[in-house]
Amino acid sequence: MPSAAECDRLDPLAQFRLRFQLPENVIYLDGNSLGVLPVGLSAHMQSVVERQWGESLVRGWNDAGWIDLPARVAGKIARLVGATPDSVAVGDSTTINVFKVLSAALSLRPERRVILSDRSNFPTDLYVADGLSRLLGQGYELKLADADSMKEAIDENVAAVLLTEVDYRTGRRYDMADMTQHVHDQGALAIWDLAHSAGAFPVHLDAAGADFAVGCGYKYLNGGPGAPAFLYVAERHQAQVSPALSGWMGHQAPFEFAQTYAPAEGIGRMLVGTPPILSLSALDRALDAFDGVDMKLVREKSQQLCDRFIDEVEKRCPELELATPRDHASRGSQVSFRHPEGYAIMQALIANGVIGDFRAPDILRFGMTPLYLRHADIAAAAETLERVMRGKLWDQDVFRRRAKVT
Ligand SMILES: *Cc1c(COP(=O)(O)O)cnc(C)c1O
Repeated sequence: MPSAAECDRLDPLAQFRLRFQLPENVIYLDGNSLGVLPVGLSAHMQSVVERQWGESLVRGWNDAGWIDLPARVAGKIARLVGATPDSVAVGDSTTINVFKVLSAALSLRPERRVILSDRSNFPTDLYVADGLSRLLGQGYELKLADADSMKEAIDENVAAVLLTEVDYRTGRRYDMADMTQHVHDQGALAIWDLAHSAGAFPVHLDAAGADFAVGCGYKYLNGGPGAPAFLYVAERHQAQVSPALSGWMGHQAPFEFAQTYAPAEGIGRMLVGTPPILSLSALDRALDAFDGVDMKLVREKSQQLCDRFIDEVEKRCPELELATPRDHASRGSQVSFRHPEGYAIMQALIANGVIGDFRAPDILRFGMTPLYLRHADIAAAAETLERVMRGKLWDQDVFRRRAKVT
Protein backbone atom coordinates (compact mmCIF):
# COMPACT_ATOMS: atom_id res chain seq x y z
CA MET A 1 0.00 0.00 0.00
CA PRO A 2 1.46 3.40 -1.00
CA SER A 3 2.22 5.78 1.89
CA ALA A 4 -0.53 7.98 3.28
CA ALA A 5 1.37 11.11 2.20
CA GLU A 6 1.69 9.81 -1.35
CA CYS A 7 -2.03 8.96 -1.55
CA ASP A 8 -3.01 12.38 -0.22
CA ARG A 9 -0.73 14.09 -2.74
CA LEU A 10 -2.44 12.26 -5.62
CA ASP A 11 -5.97 12.45 -4.21
CA PRO A 12 -8.38 13.90 -6.83
CA LEU A 13 -10.85 14.76 -4.03
CA ALA A 14 -8.33 16.58 -1.82
CA GLN A 15 -9.70 20.06 -2.63
CA PHE A 16 -13.18 19.19 -1.30
CA ARG A 17 -11.94 19.18 2.28
CA LEU A 18 -11.96 22.97 2.04
CA ARG A 19 -15.74 22.85 1.76
CA PHE A 20 -16.02 21.76 5.38
CA GLN A 21 -15.45 23.48 8.67
CA LEU A 22 -13.50 20.93 10.70
CA PRO A 23 -12.62 21.42 14.36
CA GLU A 24 -8.91 21.48 15.12
CA ASN A 25 -7.17 18.58 16.80
CA VAL A 26 -9.97 16.17 16.03
CA ILE A 27 -10.02 13.29 13.56
CA TYR A 28 -13.67 12.77 12.79
CA LEU A 29 -14.65 9.23 11.87
CA ASP A 30 -18.33 9.62 12.69
CA GLY A 31 -19.72 11.34 9.60
CA ASN A 32 -21.92 8.25 9.21
CA SER A 33 -23.74 9.30 12.38
CA LEU A 34 -23.65 13.09 12.10
CA GLY A 35 -22.03 14.81 9.14
CA VAL A 36 -19.78 17.85 9.62
CA LEU A 37 -20.66 21.50 9.14
CA PRO A 38 -20.12 22.75 5.58
CA VAL A 39 -18.33 26.08 5.10
CA GLY A 40 -20.77 28.91 4.47
CA LEU A 41 -23.73 27.15 6.04
CA SER A 42 -23.79 29.29 9.19
CA ALA A 43 -23.83 32.48 7.14
CA HIS A 44 -26.58 31.06 4.98
CA MET A 45 -28.67 30.22 8.03
CA GLN A 46 -28.09 33.67 9.45
CA SER A 47 -29.51 35.13 6.28
CA VAL A 48 -32.46 32.70 6.17
CA VAL A 49 -33.35 33.61 9.74
CA GLU A 50 -32.72 37.37 9.60
CA ARG A 51 -33.77 38.22 6.06
CA GLN A 52 -36.20 35.51 4.98
CA TRP A 53 -37.96 34.91 8.26
CA GLY A 54 -37.27 38.18 10.03
CA GLU A 55 -38.10 40.52 7.18
CA SER A 56 -40.16 38.60 4.64
CA LEU A 57 -42.27 36.95 7.32
CA VAL A 58 -45.15 35.01 5.79
CA ARG A 59 -44.34 36.42 2.35
CA GLY A 60 -41.29 34.11 2.43
CA TRP A 61 -43.44 31.17 1.34
CA ASN A 62 -43.70 32.78 -2.09
CA ASP A 63 -40.95 35.42 -2.17
CA ALA A 64 -38.16 33.26 -0.78
CA GLY A 65 -39.51 30.13 -2.47
CA TRP A 66 -40.04 28.20 0.77
CA ILE A 67 -42.96 26.30 -0.70
CA ASP A 68 -40.71 24.84 -3.41
CA LEU A 69 -37.81 24.08 -1.09
CA PRO A 70 -38.71 20.38 -0.55
CA ALA A 71 -38.70 19.80 -4.31
CA ARG A 72 -35.47 21.72 -4.79
CA VAL A 73 -33.69 19.69 -2.13
CA ALA A 74 -35.18 16.50 -3.57
CA GLY A 75 -33.57 17.33 -6.91
CA LYS A 76 -30.14 17.55 -5.31
CA ILE A 77 -30.58 14.26 -3.47
CA ALA A 78 -31.98 12.53 -6.56
CA ARG A 79 -28.66 12.86 -8.36
CA LEU A 80 -26.85 11.19 -5.47
CA VAL A 81 -29.18 8.19 -5.36
CA GLY A 82 -29.64 7.56 -9.08
CA ALA A 83 -33.24 8.68 -9.25
CA THR A 84 -35.20 11.14 -11.35
CA PRO A 85 -36.01 14.33 -9.40
CA ASP A 86 -39.69 13.44 -9.74
CA SER A 87 -39.29 10.29 -7.69
CA VAL A 88 -37.79 11.81 -4.53
CA ALA A 89 -39.63 13.67 -1.76
CA VAL A 90 -37.90 15.40 1.15
CA GLY A 91 -39.29 15.86 4.65
CA ASP A 92 -40.09 14.14 7.93
CA SER A 93 -37.67 11.73 9.59
CA THR A 94 -36.35 8.49 8.18
CA THR A 95 -38.52 6.63 10.66
CA ILE A 96 -41.69 8.35 9.47
CA ASN A 97 -40.68 7.81 5.88
CA VAL A 98 -40.32 4.08 6.56
CA PHE A 99 -43.95 4.15 7.71
CA LYS A 100 -45.01 6.10 4.62
CA VAL A 101 -43.33 3.88 2.03
CA LEU A 102 -44.05 0.62 3.81
CA SER A 103 -47.77 1.37 4.05
CA ALA A 104 -47.71 2.40 0.38
CA ALA A 105 -45.98 -0.84 -0.60
CA LEU A 106 -48.48 -2.96 1.33
CA SER A 107 -51.36 -1.23 -0.42
CA LEU A 108 -49.89 -2.30 -3.78
CA ARG A 109 -49.90 -5.98 -2.74
CA PRO A 110 -53.22 -6.24 -0.88
CA GLU A 111 -53.45 -10.03 -1.18
CA ARG A 112 -50.16 -10.57 0.68
CA ARG A 113 -49.68 -10.13 4.44
CA VAL A 114 -45.97 -10.47 5.26
CA ILE A 115 -43.32 -7.78 5.65
CA LEU A 116 -39.89 -9.39 5.49
CA SER A 117 -36.80 -7.78 6.97
CA ASP A 118 -33.30 -8.50 8.18
CA ARG A 119 -32.92 -9.62 11.78
CA SER A 120 -30.02 -7.17 12.17
CA ASN A 121 -31.80 -4.24 10.52
CA PHE A 122 -31.73 -0.91 12.33
CA PRO A 123 -34.30 -1.15 15.15
CA THR A 124 -36.47 1.77 14.05
CA ASP A 125 -37.21 0.06 10.72
CA LEU A 126 -38.28 -3.10 12.55
CA TYR A 127 -40.30 -1.22 15.17
CA VAL A 128 -42.21 0.66 12.47
CA ALA A 129 -42.86 -2.52 10.48
CA ASP A 130 -44.14 -4.21 13.62
CA GLY A 131 -46.24 -1.21 14.64
CA LEU A 132 -47.77 -0.89 11.19
CA SER A 133 -48.63 -4.62 11.15
CA ARG A 134 -50.41 -4.24 14.48
CA LEU A 135 -52.23 -1.14 13.28
CA LEU A 136 -53.45 -2.92 10.13
CA GLY A 137 -54.38 -6.17 11.90
CA GLN A 138 -55.95 -8.58 9.37
CA GLY A 139 -53.07 -11.03 9.64
CA TYR A 140 -50.29 -8.63 8.77
CA GLU A 141 -46.99 -9.65 10.30
CA LEU A 142 -43.29 -8.87 10.29
CA LYS A 143 -40.97 -11.80 9.59
CA LEU A 144 -37.22 -11.71 10.03
CA ALA A 145 -34.41 -13.57 8.32
CA ASP A 146 -30.61 -13.45 8.39
CA ALA A 147 -28.89 -11.67 5.52
CA ASP A 148 -27.47 -14.98 4.30
CA SER A 149 -30.88 -16.62 4.01
CA MET A 150 -32.86 -13.57 2.90
CA LYS A 151 -33.51 -14.83 -0.61
CA GLU A 152 -34.88 -18.20 0.53
CA ALA A 153 -37.19 -16.42 2.98
CA ILE A 154 -39.07 -14.56 0.22
CA ASP A 155 -42.18 -16.53 -0.71
CA GLU A 156 -45.63 -15.85 -2.17
CA ASN A 157 -46.90 -14.39 1.13
CA VAL A 158 -44.32 -11.61 1.23
CA ALA A 159 -45.67 -8.23 0.16
CA ALA A 160 -42.59 -6.12 0.84
CA VAL A 161 -38.95 -6.72 1.67
CA LEU A 162 -37.57 -3.93 3.85
CA LEU A 163 -33.78 -3.86 3.89
CA THR A 164 -31.07 -1.41 4.83
CA GLU A 165 -28.48 -1.55 2.07
CA VAL A 166 -25.55 -1.14 4.46
CA ASP A 167 -25.76 -2.72 7.91
CA TYR A 168 -25.33 0.01 10.52
CA ARG A 169 -23.22 -2.19 12.78
CA THR A 170 -20.95 -4.21 10.50
CA GLY A 171 -21.01 -2.17 7.29
CA ARG A 172 -22.02 -5.26 5.34
CA ARG A 173 -23.71 -4.27 2.09
CA TYR A 174 -26.43 -5.99 0.07
CA ASP A 175 -26.21 -6.17 -3.70
CA MET A 176 -29.20 -3.92 -4.32
CA ALA A 177 -29.82 -4.78 -7.98
CA ASP A 178 -29.49 -8.51 -7.44
CA MET A 179 -31.70 -8.60 -4.34
CA THR A 180 -34.32 -6.36 -5.94
CA GLN A 181 -34.47 -8.67 -8.94
CA HIS A 182 -34.99 -11.63 -6.65
CA VAL A 183 -37.71 -9.81 -4.70
CA HIS A 184 -39.51 -9.05 -7.97
CA ASP A 185 -39.18 -12.63 -9.17
CA GLN A 186 -41.23 -13.60 -6.12
CA GLY A 187 -43.85 -10.94 -6.85
CA ALA A 188 -42.90 -8.76 -3.87
CA LEU A 189 -41.74 -5.13 -3.63
CA ALA A 190 -38.30 -3.94 -2.53
CA ILE A 191 -37.87 -1.08 -0.04
CA TRP A 192 -34.32 0.13 0.57
CA ASP A 193 -33.14 2.14 3.56
CA LEU A 194 -30.21 4.25 2.33
CA ALA A 195 -29.23 5.73 5.71
CA HIS A 196 -25.64 4.52 5.21
CA SER A 197 -25.59 4.80 1.42
CA ALA A 198 -26.78 8.24 0.28
CA GLY A 199 -23.77 10.51 -0.02
CA ALA A 200 -21.41 7.66 0.85
CA PHE A 201 -21.12 6.06 -2.60
CA PRO A 202 -23.05 6.07 -5.90
CA VAL A 203 -26.56 4.63 -5.50
CA HIS A 204 -28.62 3.62 -8.55
CA LEU A 205 -32.23 3.29 -7.41
CA ASP A 206 -33.80 3.54 -10.86
CA ALA A 207 -31.28 1.24 -12.51
CA ALA A 208 -31.61 -1.33 -9.72
CA GLY A 209 -35.39 -1.36 -10.21
CA ALA A 210 -36.02 -0.42 -6.56
CA ASP A 211 -39.68 0.16 -5.71
CA PHE A 212 -39.31 2.41 -2.67
CA ALA A 213 -36.48 3.86 -0.59
CA VAL A 214 -35.84 6.11 2.38
CA GLY A 215 -32.71 7.88 3.55
CA CYS A 216 -31.23 10.16 6.12
CA GLY A 217 -30.29 13.84 5.80
CA TYR A 218 -27.90 14.20 8.73
CA LYS A 219 -25.41 11.38 8.09
CA TYR A 220 -23.36 11.41 4.88
CA LEU A 221 -25.45 14.31 3.51
CA ASN A 222 -24.27 16.63 6.31
CA GLY A 223 -27.65 18.34 6.78
CA GLY A 224 -27.17 18.90 10.53
CA PRO A 225 -28.60 17.21 13.65
CA GLY A 226 -32.09 15.89 12.94
CA ALA A 227 -32.07 17.14 9.32
CA PRO A 228 -35.10 16.22 7.19
CA ALA A 229 -34.98 12.79 5.57
CA PHE A 230 -36.02 11.71 2.08
CA LEU A 231 -38.01 8.99 0.39
CA TYR A 232 -38.23 7.53 -3.09
CA VAL A 233 -41.18 6.07 -4.96
CA ALA A 234 -40.41 4.61 -8.41
CA GLU A 235 -42.30 6.61 -11.00
CA ARG A 236 -44.19 3.52 -12.17
CA HIS A 237 -45.89 3.18 -8.77
CA GLN A 238 -46.73 6.78 -8.00
CA ALA A 239 -50.19 6.96 -9.53
CA GLN A 240 -51.30 3.83 -7.61
CA VAL A 241 -49.99 4.93 -4.25
CA SER A 242 -52.60 6.21 -1.84
CA PRO A 243 -50.70 7.81 1.08
CA ALA A 244 -51.59 6.60 4.58
CA LEU A 245 -50.47 9.95 6.00
CA SER A 246 -52.76 11.97 3.75
CA GLY A 247 -51.75 15.45 4.78
CA TRP A 248 -52.63 18.77 3.21
CA MET A 249 -49.16 19.35 1.74
CA GLY A 250 -49.66 16.18 -0.31
CA HIS A 251 -53.03 17.40 -1.57
CA GLN A 252 -53.52 18.31 -5.22
CA ALA A 253 -54.36 21.92 -4.29
CA PRO A 254 -53.57 22.65 -0.63
CA PHE A 255 -54.69 26.25 -0.80
CA GLU A 256 -58.14 25.45 -2.04
CA PHE A 257 -58.74 24.01 1.43
CA ALA A 258 -61.07 21.39 -0.01
CA GLN A 259 -63.11 19.26 2.38
CA THR A 260 -61.93 16.01 0.86
CA TYR A 261 -58.47 14.69 0.21
CA ALA A 262 -57.24 14.29 -3.33
CA PRO A 263 -53.59 13.30 -3.73
CA ALA A 264 -51.22 15.46 -5.74
CA GLU A 265 -49.99 14.11 -9.03
CA GLY A 266 -46.77 12.16 -8.70
CA ILE A 267 -44.31 12.22 -5.83
CA GLY A 268 -45.84 15.37 -4.29
CA ARG A 269 -48.50 13.22 -2.67
CA MET A 270 -45.90 11.81 -0.29
CA LEU A 271 -45.50 15.17 1.44
CA VAL A 272 -47.46 15.45 4.67
CA GLY A 273 -47.39 18.72 6.62
CA THR A 274 -45.69 22.10 6.51
CA PRO A 275 -41.99 21.66 5.68
CA PRO A 276 -39.43 22.68 8.36
CA ILE A 277 -37.91 25.55 6.41
CA LEU A 278 -34.98 26.24 8.72
CA SER A 279 -33.65 22.70 8.73
CA LEU A 280 -34.49 22.25 5.05
CA SER A 281 -32.48 25.39 4.26
CA ALA A 282 -29.51 23.91 6.09
CA LEU A 283 -29.80 20.64 4.18
CA ASP A 284 -30.21 22.56 0.92
CA ARG A 285 -26.97 24.44 1.52
CA ALA A 286 -25.15 21.35 2.81
CA LEU A 287 -25.90 19.44 -0.38
CA ASP A 288 -23.97 22.04 -2.37
CA ALA A 289 -20.84 20.44 -0.92
CA PHE A 290 -21.53 17.65 -3.44
CA ASP A 291 -21.54 20.04 -6.43
CA GLY A 292 -19.18 18.73 -9.08
CA VAL A 293 -18.27 15.69 -6.99
CA ASP A 294 -17.84 12.47 -8.94
CA MET A 295 -19.38 9.84 -6.65
CA LYS A 296 -17.32 7.12 -8.34
CA LEU A 297 -14.19 8.82 -7.03
CA VAL A 298 -15.82 9.05 -3.61
CA ARG A 299 -16.38 5.29 -3.67
CA GLU A 300 -12.79 4.58 -4.74
CA LYS A 301 -11.31 6.74 -2.02
CA SER A 302 -13.71 5.38 0.58
CA GLN A 303 -12.50 1.85 -0.15
CA GLN A 304 -8.87 2.95 0.00
CA LEU A 305 -9.50 4.58 3.38
CA CYS A 306 -11.27 1.45 4.64
CA ASP A 307 -8.40 -0.77 3.43
CA ARG A 308 -5.81 1.45 5.05
CA PHE A 309 -7.65 1.55 8.36
CA ILE A 310 -8.18 -2.22 8.44
CA ASP A 311 -4.55 -2.82 7.54
CA GLU A 312 -3.15 -0.42 10.15
CA VAL A 313 -5.48 -1.47 12.97
CA GLU A 314 -5.00 -5.20 12.42
CA LYS A 315 -1.23 -4.67 12.50
CA ARG A 316 -1.30 -2.50 15.61
CA CYS A 317 -4.25 -3.85 17.63
CA PRO A 318 -4.51 -7.62 17.21
CA GLU A 319 -7.07 -7.87 20.04
CA LEU A 320 -9.68 -6.05 17.92
CA GLU A 321 -11.72 -8.32 15.69
CA LEU A 322 -12.75 -7.03 12.27
CA ALA A 323 -16.55 -7.05 11.83
CA THR A 324 -16.64 -5.54 8.32
CA PRO A 325 -16.28 -7.59 5.12
CA ARG A 326 -12.88 -7.27 3.43
CA ASP A 327 -14.41 -7.59 0.00
CA HIS A 328 -15.10 -4.12 -1.39
CA ALA A 329 -18.37 -4.98 -3.10
CA SER A 330 -19.76 -6.39 0.16
CA ARG A 331 -19.27 -3.34 2.34
CA GLY A 332 -20.36 0.27 2.59
CA SER A 333 -18.21 3.16 3.78
CA GLN A 334 -17.41 2.21 7.35
CA VAL A 335 -15.09 -0.10 9.25
CA SER A 336 -16.16 -1.81 12.46
CA PHE A 337 -14.25 -3.82 15.02
CA ARG A 338 -15.52 -5.89 17.91
CA HIS A 339 -14.19 -5.86 21.46
CA PRO A 340 -16.01 -6.70 24.72
CA GLU A 341 -14.78 -3.36 26.17
CA GLY A 342 -15.73 -1.50 23.00
CA TYR A 343 -17.63 1.25 24.79
CA ALA A 344 -14.76 2.23 27.11
CA ILE A 345 -12.24 1.95 24.28
CA MET A 346 -14.27 4.34 22.15
CA GLN A 347 -14.63 6.83 24.99
CA ALA A 348 -10.87 6.77 25.57
CA LEU A 349 -10.25 7.18 21.86
CA ILE A 350 -12.58 10.20 21.75
CA ALA A 351 -10.77 11.69 24.75
CA ASN A 352 -7.61 11.36 22.66
CA GLY A 353 -9.03 13.23 19.67
CA VAL A 354 -10.35 10.47 17.42
CA ILE A 355 -14.14 10.42 17.19
CA GLY A 356 -15.97 7.28 16.18
CA ASP A 357 -18.91 5.67 17.94
CA PHE A 358 -20.03 2.52 19.71
CA ARG A 359 -22.95 0.29 18.86
CA ALA A 360 -24.15 -2.31 21.35
CA PRO A 361 -23.17 -4.92 22.16
CA ASP A 362 -19.49 -4.67 21.19
CA ILE A 363 -18.98 -2.67 17.98
CA LEU A 364 -16.47 0.15 17.54
CA ARG A 365 -17.61 1.96 14.42
CA PHE A 366 -15.56 4.22 12.14
CA GLY A 367 -17.18 6.06 9.22
CA MET A 368 -15.16 6.95 6.13
CA THR A 369 -16.15 10.25 4.51
CA PRO A 370 -13.80 10.85 1.56
CA LEU A 371 -14.77 14.48 0.98
CA TYR A 372 -13.07 15.64 4.16
CA LEU A 373 -10.85 12.80 5.36
CA ARG A 374 -7.23 12.34 4.33
CA HIS A 375 -5.21 9.15 4.25
CA ALA A 376 -2.97 10.77 6.85
CA ASP A 377 -5.97 11.11 9.18
CA ILE A 378 -6.64 7.40 8.90
CA ALA A 379 -3.04 6.52 9.68
CA ALA A 380 -3.01 8.90 12.65
CA ALA A 381 -6.32 7.51 13.95
CA ALA A 382 -4.92 3.97 13.88
CA GLU A 383 -1.83 5.15 15.77
CA THR A 384 -3.99 6.72 18.46
CA LEU A 385 -6.09 3.57 18.70
CA GLU A 386 -2.89 1.58 19.19
CA ARG A 387 -1.83 3.93 21.98
CA VAL A 388 -5.23 3.52 23.68
CA MET A 389 -5.02 -0.28 23.43
CA ARG A 390 -1.34 -0.77 24.38
CA GLY A 391 -1.49 1.62 27.32
CA LYS A 392 -4.93 0.32 28.36
CA LEU A 393 -5.93 3.96 28.50
CA TRP A 394 -9.57 2.83 28.30
CA ASP A 395 -9.41 0.91 31.57
CA GLN A 396 -10.89 3.64 33.78
CA ASP A 397 -14.34 3.99 35.33
CA VAL A 398 -14.86 7.36 33.69
CA PHE A 399 -14.81 5.69 30.26
CA ARG A 400 -17.23 2.93 31.29
CA ARG A 401 -19.98 5.30 32.37
CA ARG A 402 -22.60 5.13 29.64
CA ALA A 403 -23.94 8.39 28.28
CA LYS A 404 -27.49 8.57 26.93
CA VAL A 405 -26.19 8.68 23.37
CA THR A 406 -23.42 6.26 22.43
C1 LIG B 1 -29.78 6.42 11.27
C2 LIG B 1 -30.80 5.47 10.78
C3 LIG B 1 -32.15 5.78 10.84
C4 LIG B 1 -32.55 7.03 11.58
O1 LIG B 1 -33.89 7.29 11.60
P1 LIG B 1 -34.39 8.65 12.27
O2 LIG B 1 -35.82 8.65 12.03
O3 LIG B 1 -33.63 9.75 11.61
O4 LIG B 1 -34.02 8.62 13.72
C5 LIG B 1 -33.06 4.92 10.25
N1 LIG B 1 -32.64 3.77 9.65
C6 LIG B 1 -31.33 3.43 9.60
C7 LIG B 1 -30.91 2.19 8.93
C8 LIG B 1 -30.38 4.27 10.18
O5 LIG B 1 -29.10 3.94 10.17
